[in-house]
Amino acid sequence: RTVYVNGEYLPEEQATVSIFDRGFLFADGVYEVTSVIGGKLLDFDGHAARLERSLNELEMPNPISRDDLLAVHRELVSANGIEDGLVYLQITRGAADRDFAYPEDPTPTIVLFTQAKPGLADNPKAQTGMKVISIEDQRWGRRDIKTVQLLYPSMGKMMAKAAGADDAWMTEEGHVTEGTSNNAYIVKDGTIITRHLGTEILHGITRAAVLRFAKEAQMKVEERAFTLDEAKEADEAFITSASTFVMPVVEIDGTALGDGTPGPVARRLREIYLDESRKTAV
Ligand code: PLP
Repeated sequence: RTVYVNGEYLPEEQATVSIFDRGFLFADGVYEVTSVIGGKLLDFDGHAARLERSLNELEMPNPISRDDLLAVHRELVSANGIEDGLVYLQITRGAADRDFAYPEDPTPTIVLFTQAKPGLADNPKAQTGMKVISIEDQRWGRRDIKTVQLLYPSMGKMMAKAAGADDAWMTEEGHVTEGTSNNAYIVKDGTIITRHLGTEILHGITRAAVLRFAKEAQMKVEERAFTLDEAKEADEAFITSASTFVMPVVEIDGTALGDGTPGPVARRLREIYLDESRKTAV
C-alpha cells in the first residue's frame, strides 16, 4: 500500500512519524474519514470543511490547501486501486519536546492512507439492521472537534461486542448523544428525530446530507435531544456515518423496535443517500 506522509508518497513500511509527535503523546490531532465508492470520493467538500473547522478550534496550522488535499486523496485512491473503501486523513500538531503547552512554531504532521472495503455500499447489515446497547457518555466536552482521542468510543465498542451487540449509543442525563462513531436517529409517527448540533456531538457530514435529502423529500425532521426511553418506544431507528452511510438499528438494549426489522424510513434514506452522493462524488 502507498501512503502519504508530510508531502511524500511512500510504501507503508517506509512511512515514519516521530515518537515525540503530539498526536502520539497528547492525542493532539484531528482526522477525517471519507468513503470511496466506484473509485470516487463521497462528500469530499464537507469533510474538508470540517477538517478546517477542527484545526481552527484547536489553533492548529493547516499544512495543506483544499485543492492539494483532494489531489492527495485521488492519488492514493488511484495508486492503491481503491474501488470501494475509505481514505483516512490525520493532522497532528507535530513533534515537539514534551510539554502540555502548545509549541510556538509547530510543524504539523499530515498522514493519509487508504483502506479497501470491497462492497462497502452493499453491507449485509443494512438488510438485518444493527443491535445497540446504551452506555453513559464519558467522553470529553468538545465532541464537535474530530480529534484522535478515541479511547472511550473504543471501550464502548468493546462493551457492545461483549453484550452481543453491534454498537453502543451514548447517553447524557438520559438523552442519547450519538453512537461510538456515528450519529443517532429515531423515527416516531413519520418524524425523524436526531440530536441538535452543539458541543455534545460530532457534526456528521453524512448527517447534514441525510437531513437535507429528508427535507427535500418532504419528510418531517426534528433536531432535538431524545431520551433513551423515547428511543426504545420509537417506530424505527438508524445511524449515519461516512463509512456506514445510513444503517438501520433494530434493537436497543434488547428491546426490538417495531417488528424488529429495518424500517421504511431508514431504508429509503439509505437509498436516497447512496444515489445522491454518488452523483456528486469526485
Ligand atoms: N459521531 C461520531 C462520534 C463519529 O466518530 C462519527 C464519524 O466518525 C460520526 C458521528 C459521523 O460523522 P460523519 O457522517 O461525518 O462520518
